[in-house]
Amino acid sequence: MHDIGRFAPSPTGPLHAGSLVAALASWLDARAHGGQWLVRIEDVDTPRCVPGADQHILQQLAQCGLVSDAPVMWQSQRGAAYQTALDTLIAKGWAYPCGCSRKEIEDAQAVTGHTRERHHAAVYPGTCRHGLNGKTARAWRLNVQRVIDDLKLATPLTWQDRLLGPQQQDVAQEVGDFVLRRADGLWAYQLAVVVDDAAQGITHIVRGADLTDNTARQIVLQHALDFPTPSYMHTPLVLGENGEKLSKQNGATALDLSQPLCPLRMAAQALGLPKQADDTSMQQTLDAWAKAWTLTLRPVPR
Ligand code: GLU
Repeated sequence: MHDIGRFAPSPTGPLHAGSLVAALASWLDARAHGGQWLVRIEDVDTPRCVPGADQHILQQLAQCGLVSDAPVMWQSQRGAAYQTALDTLIAKGWAYPCGCSRKEIEDAQAVTGHTRERHHAAVYPGTCRHGLNGKTARAWRLNVQRVIDDLKLATPLTWQDRLLGPQQQDVAQEVGDFVLRRADGLWAYQLAVVVDDAAQGITHIVRGADLTDNTARQIVLQHALDFPTPSYMHTPLVLGENGEKLSKQNGATALDLSQPLCPLRMAAQALGLPKQADDTSMQQTLDAWAKAWTLTLRPVPR
């Protein structure tokens, strides 16, 4: 069986320096293993998607010599598959409807002394776990503890990152019953990504380190849906001049791809890949990095 990797951008704007690092890293990893590399457009969060950004991203990738080895998948066309997965979880007794508003969740957390940490979704206090109590169903949540108990998963859940080394998270305590389908009817990233990684047969996930914290949740869902768990590698983030993570939200400037080798070289530098002579063609440069890939990325000792 071939290794299959993927790059899964959300079309909230064009590629920037940070997302190019993730794209290049996943492509090099697939090439280094003689595997396939797929592109999936993660356009489930429609209010955040920018019209045309998907095509723009695909064009930018192509300019950098990064082209999907199979037809591109769009998550906006995958609703039926997500519904099937949710139905499976409901039938197992592992998903439940939730009628809480954001305000009610925050009030309940204030009572239990939970505070919302920066950059983390609030831990859901479990109000609707045993019934809606007359409220209208808004979202669907995963009953994390029940999945862990029924499947005898370890607590904390441990996993190995190919670059960051051993990782662990107590998903029930630290994350809680996370959302599968949102109150606005949109599919949650966690469910969509797990269903699609399985559907596309992804064996190797390489993505930015800002997503590391989502991995344990995704592994719980893979167990719940009887999907294999891929191997994971989270690549270093490219920081902006202010030391903040580059993102489309904080105005990361679009890449200048008039000479695609320039931004590619910067991405390669962020990954610690060896410099190539200035007159090396794009194809030769990519091939040289793919050869150097497994040697360059050694696990960081912790
Ligand atoms: N679509 C996600 C993002 O752009 C990445 C998903 C993933 O690689 O798992 O943040």
